[in-house]
Amino acid sequence: MAQYLSIKAEHPGALLFFRMGDFYELFFQDAVEAASILDITLTSRGEHDGKPIPMAGVPYHAAEGYLARLIKGGCRVAVCEQMETPAEAKKRGSKSIVQRGVVRIVTPGTLTEDALLPARQGQALAAIAFSGAGEAALAVCDVSTGAFDLTAIPAARLGEALLAWPLSELVISADDADRPLILEARGFLSAPITERPGRAATAKSGEALLKEVFGLAALDSLGDFSRVEFAAAGLLLDYVKLTQAGAPIRLRAPRRPDTGGILLIDPATRASLEIDRSISGGRDGTLLAVIDRTVTAPGARLLAARLARPSRSVSEITSRYDAVSHLLGDAGQLEDVRVRLKSAPDLERAVMRLNLGRGGPRDMAALSKAVLSGAEAAGVLGRGLPPRLAEVAETLGLSGAPSVRAFAEDLARALTEAPPMLARDGGFIAQGWDVALDEVRALRDGSRRVIAELQAKYADQTGINALKVKFNNVLGYFIEVPAAKADPMLRAPLSADFIHRQTMAGAVRFSTHELADLAGRIGRAEDEAKAREIAIFEAFCAKVEELTGPLAVIAAALAELDVAASHAVWAAETGAVRPALDPRPVFEAKGLRHPVVEAALRKEGKGFTANDLHLDAEGNEGARFLLVTGPNMAGKSTYLRQSALAVILAQAGAFVPAASLRLGLSDRVFSRVGASDDLARGRSTFMVEMVETAAILNQATPESFVILDEVGRGTATWDGLAIAWAAAEHLHDTNRCRAIFATHYHELTDLAARMPAASNASLKAREWKQDLIFLHEVQPGPADRSYGVQVAKLAGLPRAAVARAGQILKKLEAGPSASENLPLFAMVAEDPAPEFSPESSAVIEALAAADPDSLTPREALDLVYRLKDLS
Ligand code: ADP
Repeated sequence: MAQYLSIKAEHPGALLFFRMGDFYELFFQDAVEAASILDITLTSRGEHDGKPIPMAGVPYHAAEGYLARLIKGGCRVAVCEQMETPAEAKKRGSKSIVQRGVVRIVTPGTLTEDALLPARQGQALAAIAFSGAGEAALAVCDVSTGAFDLTAIPAARLGEALLAWPLSELVISADDADRPLILEARGFLSAPITERPGRAATAKSGEALLKEVFGLAALDSLGDFSRVEFAAAGLLLDYVKLTQAGAPIRLRAPRRPDTGGILLIDPATRASLEIDRSISGGRDGTLLAVIDRTVTAPGARLLAARLARPSRSVSEITSRYDAVSHLLGDAGQLEDVRVRLKSAPDLERAVMRLNLGRGGPRDMAALSKAVLSGAEAAGVLGRGLPPRLAEVAETLGLSGAPSVRAFAEDLARALTEAPPMLARDGGFIAQGWDVALDEVRALRDGSRRVIAELQAKYADQTGINALKVKFNNVLGYFIEVPAAKADPMLRAPLSADFIHRQTMAGAVRFSTHELADLAGRIGRAEDEAKAREIAIFEAFCAKVEELTGPLAVIAAALAELDVAASHAVWAAETGAVRPALDPRPVFEAKGLRHPVVEAALRKEGKGFTANDLHLDAEGNEGARFLLVTGPNMAGKSTYLRQSALAVILAQAGAFVPAASLRLGLSDRVFSRVGASDDLARGRSTFMVEMVETAAILNQATPESFVILDEVGRGTATWDGLAIAWAAAEHLHDTNRCRAIFATHYHELTDLAARMPAASNASLKAREWKQDLIFLHEVQPGPADRSYGVQVAKLAGLPRAAVARAGQILKKLEAGPSASENLPLFAMVAEDPAPEFSPESSAVIEALAAADPDSLTPREALDLVYRLKDLS
């Protein structure tokens, strides 16, 4: 208990898995907590301060499953192992207990085991540091793959930056003055936050740790990182080091992600477009789920990363397109490549586990299989490839890495068909690989054969046909005869050879010196074989270590190829096309479709209506700002979303579901679609809507792409209209970006006439026998009416209510005098329409009269005072 308590005291924030023989035991509050999460029995053992000590345990061989559940339950677990055998402890002194130590702390962001990690999802552990000058740095790593990114960003964009990663855990400094910013970002994050002492988050500590981890005397070779970036790296590495409990940190040197710049997607946009997470939280129905045709886990992770962080670099995007185009051009080759990829296991994570000393023979087999499948895929690709693909083929072809090929081939020959997960289980080195191993195995098997032969010999000698040679864990090898026949063996002369061991109800058991001798030999041979296998395994591990660099490059090439193939397969299935990139800020789509809605409709056997969209941020001919009207359910938000999704797909390097798309790259995509309450952060629907709209109006640049749906819906009619009106004008006049604006305020359609770069479009709907038919077709010009009552009818409003609504509508449309008997209308009528006609405003008149070019400074000041009086 003293040992337990002293170790536990070092890990206050974690459950302590305390290894005792074949179990990990938990004590005190840890036991209570784990028992409730894992649904295991809570017992007690001994006493502490006069009270029984609560205890719960899990068998060590099944520990991974329990760990997984605890991590999912939001716990951290410190794994404490026995660092010596009981025999070794005894040697040190008769009273010595086995030495124990924590070998690692398992946290949500530092997993490496297959059983604990979703294969097709990345795992990002992020740490943040602040400069105090509005700048933040983000250090992000994946300890299961070794990826390590380091970058500085404006602190205000923290939430946005964090969400671009598949975040599993966020580390912050406990004494950070900028914590409110993190908590703000937290509204969007589901990952747990870990606080660490501030001393780790300094440039000095970061520099020291980077030097230590990468074995460098000076940091120049890593590239040009700032002090705040070093501080973030320090916080991150310090935490990784803590969780690895002394094992070396295996990360690649930090990289500044996406040097060409990325398409920024703010948290609200990311959520509303359901890129990789649906509103309900799952992966189903997301853009990612619909387009993902990858066949390897690393490919799936790379695809997710690309959709989460699309590029802004023409050369990067073009090279991705080239690879897809090439594969799309040869269906046979594409299929062949995918067959090879399909048999390539997760090289990235296998290598990392082996490097961390947590790998086993199965990881070795995965390594070999992945490298050799990659080589086959390269063979299929052949020649005449676009540059990106040529590079992939060259890497996978292993022409520059003969030692990797030799090693992978060695492993293929050395390992058995289905090797065990753990080296200590033995039996994974194939016959014929190692002479010494084969010899001890022959010895063992020979002895086993001799034992099998002994049965016949003893039966002969004793005259007991029912005599059997058997094995169990207590006696080892023994001879068993039925009790009724055992008598002669208990007496001379047979009793001289057969030593009585055990009398059971129906049988008597004996041993012989000969048998014990053979059993000893088998045992020794087995131990020797195991030791030999482990030695071979360790030699392989050393080789993996040596080849880690080239293996990482191969792993990246496999993922790259898988993603390109996935895009090609999806494009072939859905008729998606390669976008044409344009230096001008245009979006010219013909026959554009919404990939997710289309896929859902296809499942129901329904078709999707494709639509065109032409926007040009520099054009003045009504092409920068499109105002979309039409009844509810007509397809407005689908039309808006599909355009934003096309931008994301195109800039991620995927093809887009359209007949054609000409696109000028965007710096940011903004989407405010549909209102959802954010009660968790205490904001009403309207507040959320306004916060998001404000973000767009404040940040959108002429390169941005904006979709806004039903702005102003969350408040009273005239307020809402006023806000929508102002937002539309601001987008058109100030932001000057490509924008589509859907609204049910018909009054807004007049705006197009006033704003030179705006135009109207609407979704067609037709009334047919009092029913409403949606054609989902976008046509130029505003919608004629809103068909609200018909939509209500479609939605299943009771017939009487629909009929009454129809009556009321008629009266309302006929004008105020016709509807005096309608209290509803009276209410609305009391709230007069504000004057939106700018011409009638005295302020505007005064402005119109002024000639700025001829005003003296004094006159200008007077004008300001006059305007102030008028307002
Ligand atoms: P609105 O925003 O106008 O209320 P939505 O865009 O939400 O309408 O569309 C409502 C439904 O109509 C969608 O869920 C989809 O099933 C269908 N729909 C929308 N656009 C199309 C289209 N282009 N082709 C076929 N069906 C469509």
